[in-house]
Amino acid sequence: MKAIRKYLHSFLLLELLRGMALTGRHFFARKITVQYPDERTPQSPRFRGLHALRRYPNGEERCIACKLCEAVCPALAITIESEQRPDGTRRTTRYDIDLTKCIFCGFCEESCPVDSIVETRILDYHGEKRGDLLYTKEMLLAIGDQYEKEIAADRAQDARYR
Ligand code: SF4
Ligand code: SF4
Repeated sequence: MKAIRKYLHSFLLLELLRGMALTGRHFFARKITVQYPDERTPQSPRFRGLHALRRYPNGEERCIACKLCEAVCPALAITIESEQRPDGTRRTTRYDIDLTKCIFCGFCEESCPVDSIVETRILDYHGEKRGDLLYTKEMLLAIGDQYEKEIAADRAQDARYR
């Protein structure tokens, strides 16, 4: 009986018809392919993309070199060196993030007491040679300066959900 059923299935090309029906359903269905980079999918204000270091409105760096982010980073991607200024405050002399190690967990952002290190919405960046993905303090501050408005808006929106 089983053999006969199998023979009929093959003879009537049922598998083929079933496959074509499935193709037909998707052929006329609404397309959900996004034409990146002209079109983008919605992003959460908590999106964890490229890192940035922020400043206060007066231009002063927020980072106080407490090294909490370095300590909490599970990938050991952050390297910080610091020194004390003549006025007694402490600031970093080096702040590197190796993005080839980073797993974008967001722990650095969560641990920062002064909202200095943050992850932006930037997702389309790349490196072409060894070392391109080692982001230095200057590079991170430059990203922070460029995207501060968006970062501040996202942080404010995020705070409303906490
Ligand atoms: S996102 Fe996670 S892995 Fe990446 S630098 Fe921050 S703490 Fe480290
Ligand atoms: S970025 Fe934040 S957590 Fe990291 S050293 Fe600076 S102040 Fe501390």
